[in-house]
Amino acid sequence: MIINTARFVVSNTDVNKCPQDQRHEYAFIGRSNVGKSSLINMLTGKKNLAMTSSTPGKTMLINHFLIDDSWYIVDLPGYGYARRSKEDRLRLEKIIKNYILNRKQMTNLFLLIDSRHAPQKIDLDFMDFLGENGVPFSLVFTKMDKQSAAAGAHQVAAYLEALLERWEELPPVFKTSSSDGRGKKEILDYIEELNKLPLE
Ligand code: GDP
Repeated sequence: MIINTARFVVSNTDVNKCPQDQRHEYAFIGRSNVGKSSLINMLTGKKNLAMTSSTPGKTMLINHFLIDDSWYIVDLPGYGYARRSKEDRLRLEKIIKNYILNRKQMTNLFLLIDSRHAPQKIDLDFMDFLGENGVPFSLVFTKMDKQSAAAGAHQVAAYLEALLERWEELPPVFKTSSSDGRGKKEILDYIEELNKLPLE
């Protein structure tokens, strides 16, 4: 699948104020700086659609982007940002969990992981939460261009092996780079397949 048009629709903190039309939507989430904005911009082919970390005043909002007038990409706030106050972190957690647990249109959640990092507690805990609540999700390893092919393959394999110590099954896995476009086709083709399923 190729994306032709992508436009920002709305930002808010309340799942009840998200678009009310019945379209498939795909949410992207990960720790701050994982490469989420860059990935959304890469997938859509729009340089500045999602705001990157360097954008001043980057907020704690749920952002909806309408793709080809038929489905949504949702940019969820990044979590695990150490410089946020405890109060902000709790507020953020509430916004994210409310959205994930209540948004019926959310067909899949893409959880982004920096491919250079070993499993982090905050991500593992988040996966536990997704599993316990039956939330459909996939893993997206980002920044694959930042290491050699061999090192990247080794790193991802070690990560998945660690996951198998906790879980019996692995979710779908995508290896990506916003710099060289790796993984774009795979993610968009996956979304294209899911778009064919009826919304429950
Ligand atoms: P976000 O906070 O998760 O939205 O992360 P950003 O998309 O703003 O990216 C954080 C930093 O990582 C920026 O400096 C990006 O240029 C860089 N970055 C993001 N994705 C990639 C990638 O695939 N390859 C490389 N080399 N750098 C990346």
